[in-house]
Amino acid sequence: MSYLVLARKYRPATFDEVAAQDLVVSTLKAAIEKGKVSHAYLFTGPRGSGKTTVARILAKALNCEKGPTAKPCNVCARCKDITAGVSLDVIEIDGASHNSVDDVRELNENVRYATAGGHRIYIIDEVHMLSASAFNALLKTLEEPPAHAVFVLATTEVSKIPATILSRCQRFDFRRIPPPALATTLQNVCAKENIEVEPEALAILVRKADGSLRDGLSLLDQVWTLSGGKITIESVEQALGLIGLEIFFELTDAFVQKDAARTLSVFDRVVEKGADIEDFLDQLLYHLRNLLVARLKQHTEELLGLSETERQEYVQQAEQFAEGDVLRMMKAISDLKLNLSRLADPKILVEAELVKLAWLDSTVDLKEVLEKLESGGGSSPSPGSGPKGSFSTKPPGSFSTIGVASTEYPVRASGTAGMPSPLPSPQSFGNAQSASKASAGTTAVAANVPGKAVEGAVWKQVLDRMRKENPASVSLLEQCHPYFSEQDELILSFGRSYEGMAKLKFGGRGNGRKILDEVLAEVFGRKIVLKMEFVANGPAAAPIAPVPGSSRVSVDDWLEKYPDWKEIWEKLQLEAIERQPNRPETN
Ligand SMILES: [Zn+2]
Repeated sequence: MSYLVLARKYRPATFDEVAAQDLVVSTLKAAIEKGKVSHAYLFTGPRGSGKTTVARILAKALNCEKGPTAKPCNVCARCKDITAGVSLDVIEIDGASHNSVDDVRELNENVRYATAGGHRIYIIDEVHMLSASAFNALLKTLEEPPAHAVFVLATTEVSKIPATILSRCQRFDFRRIPPPALATTLQNVCAKENIEVEPEALAILVRKADGSLRDGLSLLDQVWTLSGGKITIESVEQALGLIGLEIFFELTDAFVQKDAARTLSVFDRVVEKGADIEDFLDQLLYHLRNLLVARLKQHTEELLGLSETERQEYVQQAEQFAEGDVLRMMKAISDLKLNLSRLADPKILVEAELVKLAWLDSTVDLKEVLEKLESGGGSSPSPGSGPKGSFSTKPPGSFSTIGVASTEYPVRASGTAGMPSPLPSPQSFGNAQSASKASAGTTAVAANVPGKAVEGAVWKQVLDRMRKENPASVSLLEQCHPYFSEQDELILSFGRSYEGMAKLKFGGRGNGRKILDEVLAEVFGRKIVLKMEFVANGPAAAPIAPVPGSSRVSVDDWLEKYPDWKEIWEKLQLEAIERQPNRPETN
């Protein structure tokens, strides 16, 4: 007994079996019943939505021995031939490979001959691939088709079809099969085939099928063949080489914790699993999309193809992110995807991007815009009104220093196969403090600043107030490290590259300086003497208020140890500067 693949076995054989194309089906059925079948149809819609399946059912409806009928019998010789794909009255042409004018001329020749079956149906798949001259040749036949001919032109890209062709066709739009409908269909197939399947496993198949019944059935077939018994989440992940959802939750959790090392160790595990990097990025994008949906909607019906537990997990994790942060992450990942194919070793770029995301500073501009939109374009939010537990309310992480509190680091197996780990192991930075001191020299960086660092929460108040009073200066202020000198002056320590910009904005005569002075007096409750310093190896990005109990290592130390990263680092630095929405004012 030969095995019939599920995709063929369960291909809909009647109009009523076609999922989710109600309008198309009811219109076609009515046309057949009233004897008003057109000579040319255009079926457009995503792949796997049932275009050629419906075209074949139409062929059966017209040619069934009991027809024309909207309910072809599927048992007569003509129906069976069409189902088996051997009927001489159904001509299927692949437009992608038969796209020349000669191909269409041959077709035109064929069309002239009458048929025994009543109608001959020409299904041209991917018709948008035809050449211009081929379309012209086809047009002649569409203008004066013989009575027995019915053309079904199927396409995924209707915009590429010439208007002259469109005007000759009756158009039907097929839609992607919605996940619930697809889930029901697959569930029914499983029941008929005695396939035991976990609902969560089915949910993954539905998600992967992306609205295509054919893909859904093929995936089910593939997993069933490989799993041998009950279909579980694990067997689906294994069979399809998928990365478990928990990996992505762990990854975004590491982003929230600003834990670059854990980010990399999670990615290591992905690579060890042998997962395709592009697949991984696709799934990461989808995961971020789900976070965004959970964040924005506050309800989870739109989290498609997930179990209830997973939905709850999304809702919980989404609370840790501001919308703007998720959007920026999505943008970063899609940009990365575009660049991926150009690289010989994409892995290192993905690692760099993940580290960047882990160090991503709180969204300022985008979040502000979103909140302004929410409040009807009114005033800026008051301090602390940001989303609870979002990036913005945490002491920001930094491009310039890396927290290496030993508890933050999972112990990594040394000598992981593949490439060497680019981040320091806890052991190698056991004496991080002294290493940092040694290289920091006279520059004031992070934990080694003389005097007293401004507490993160206090500095945030300053930034929030400035955001209200002088928003154009905030992103620059975010680039400095503020601390009190031994003389009780407030020193804004900038990297050398910000010197010009900072002097323009806060250099005494600038309007920004006056506002900043006022805000500082307000926040600290006393007059503050403000100074700026510019240091060669100083903070290149955001300020850091040292977290008690954690030692920090400067990037320079780190790059010295891992020179491979220098180039990437410099690139990231550059981007960090380019991203500044504010340019120095010219007047
Ligand atoms: Zn029949």
